[in-house]
Amino acid sequence: MMKILISNDDGIHAPGLRALAAAVADCGEVTVIAPEREQSAAGHAVTLHKPLRMKEVPLPGLALKAYATNGTPADCIALGTVDRGDLPDLVLSGINAGANLAEEILYSGTASAAMEGALNNITSFALSVTAPASQARFDVAAELARRIVRSFPREAAPRARFFNVNVPSLPPEEIAGIEVTRLGHRCYVNRMEKRLDPRGRPYYWFTGDPVERDSSPGTDIAAIASGKISITPLHFDLTSHDDITPLVEALARGALWP
Ligand code: MN
Repeated sequence: MMKILISNDDGIHAPGLRALAAAVADCGEVTVIAPEREQSAAGHAVTLHKPLRMKEVPLPGLALKAYATNGTPADCIALGTVDRGDLPDLVLSGINAGANLAEEILYSGTASAAMEGALNNITSFALSVTAPASQARFDVAAELARRIVRSFPREAAPRARFFNVNVPSLPPEEIAGIEVTRLGHRCYVNRMEKRLDPRGRPYYWFTGDPVERDSSPGTDIAAIASGKISITPLHFDLTSHDDITPLVEALARGALWP
């Protein structure tokens, strides 16, 4: 029986997590380990300086083990892989309320939980819907997760163990298809807003306006903009391979050392 580990960064009580767990509950032996409160944008942080606890939390109507932890999304996957002799076959993270596109995956706890699964050699999927929590609908993403568990063609991506999936928050009949994508490039400007507290002292709030640097055809941003499901195979190598040779040549001229 397939063992499936589910986590997220929106927390154990998030509707997207519940939709995901319900969609795959009868597909295998499902365990949920999720943060006890929201940890969106926690990135790949892990907890080193305090004890981690797991508390069993029943998910009403679902016959599966679910635990809330005081850890991060990546901690949740680490906790779910403690028993090296009984590793999950699959990690599913989500369903996040809000897209995780382009470099957002560097900040996303949803993506990092999936990456932590992949670091443990477990095929892992991060799933997000492209609408904020108040408007998000999870039915299409949940159905897709069910199909991933049942029939994902693993031979089609032998090297990738980590897939970042974004699903338009649309009714099924309005989904324009599914596209294999690369990450786009989208950065944020005006990221820190300075305000004054009632005593006149400054404080800062993380915000920002997205500026799309690459939303060309083939990117995750473009697929979502055209109403398609986007699936991006990822790996961890952040090396800029094209820059190695110019840098080697510059350093060979003694630019830095000796
Ligand atoms: Mn989130």
